[in-house]
Amino acid sequence: MTAPITQDLLTIPRKLPETGLRNIVGLTRDELRDALIEAGTPEKQAKMRVGQIWQWVYHWGVRDFALMTNLAKDYRAQLAQHFEIALPEIVTRQVSADGTRKYLLKIAGGHEVETVYIPEETRGTLCISSQVGCTLTCSFCHTGTQKLVRNLTAGEIVGQVMVARDDLGEWPQPGAPKDETRLVSNVVLMGMGEPLYNFDNVRNAMKVVMDGEGISLSRRRITLSTSGIVPEIAKTAEEIGCLLAVSFHATTDETRDKLVPVNKKWNIETLLGALREYPRLSNSERITFEYVMLDGVNDSDADARRLVKLIQGIPAKINLIPFNEWPGAPYKRSSWERIESFADIVHKAGYASPIRTPRGEDIMAACGQLKSATERGRKSKAEIAAETGA
Ligand code: SAH
Ligand code: SF4
Repeated sequence: MTAPITQDLLTIPRKLPETGLRNIVGLTRDELRDALIEAGTPEKQAKMRVGQIWQWVYHWGVRDFALMTNLAKDYRAQLAQHFEIALPEIVTRQVSADGTRKYLLKIAGGHEVETVYIPEETRGTLCISSQVGCTLTCSFCHTGTQKLVRNLTAGEIVGQVMVARDDLGEWPQPGAPKDETRLVSNVVLMGMGEPLYNFDNVRNAMKVVMDGEGISLSRRRITLSTSGIVPEIAKTAEEIGCLLAVSFHATTDETRDKLVPVNKKWNIETLLGALREYPRLSNSERITFEYVMLDGVNDSDADARRLVKLIQGIPAKINLIPFNEWPGAPYKRSSWERIESFADIVHKAGYASPIRTPRGEDIMAACGQLKSATERGRKSKAEIAAETGA
């Protein structure tokens, strides 16, 4: 993590996509081709133009058609009449004492989402959101107390990656030697929302992020976290191909029903069935089981033993997440001795059991703490009951 961090890109004015122009960011190659033809690009040239524009936008990070110098001047003007290259707008950026950065981003309609950048020794992980709020109501999650406002578009999902690259100064400089250091080396879909309830936009966005002519992140560096939307799990492997993490969090249906209420629809056995079938292209591709450590709720030695028994046969790693508190949260974090004892049992059973170090707690950027202050809509008890079938 040695590349210099520049701040000046922050001052680039960013338009919200309310100009009547079509935003190019987030369109798949096919969608971009169709849009270009619709805007007067001759069909025969369309594929080549897609390639050229794609490289400017996603490889070089260019935002102005006028700078796309391998296109004819009048064609650049024509593009500017129909299209824009627009990203979410940074409302605030907080930097934690540990280097974690939390961006509050404004998107069309005035809604806000959060994106978190977590720098580590050997990699930099960007945690992105897929929805404003969440329809689900996991009882330990801050986002879960907020109503679903809307799904993010593919452009808003890709836009989060581009905003972070802007802020970190990560776009290549023309003519400069190729720099293999990547500040945003990994993407996790672990921000606000349930990505598998916004499947098409998440898939299209990840296709753009993975495209080799652009941002070019390998599918192995993208992890999608789901609370367990069983019918979409196989599709994730087929249509995105990224790594999978599952918010498991409990070892009995009784407890999981309370923590992750979608368990009432797809219980532990059904979920494990889908995970057993999740295809992996190599042995190193394990499924991550996320397990939040809640004092006295799911953290006993008996839980640890049940957990390893349940997942037997699934290539897995178990990510223990010390509970991150938020105002009004009904749980407490397990003690470190408890977490270590749990980790030890899991480890002795042959599974990697990293304990996720809480990052950015001082700026409320840690797992499960994200919630946009502007979205005051809080779920009522009746709404929670209706959504969870409680
Ligand atoms: N909706 C998806 C992805 C977002 S949550 C999902 O549920 O998987 C990312 C991870 O943070 C999930 O494992 C989630 O269960 C966990 N999490 C939520 N609230 C938390 C909290 N307060 N403390 C620790 N982890 C939390
Ligand atoms: Fe939604 Fe995930 Fe939070 Fe559950 S843990 S409420 S699925 S964001």
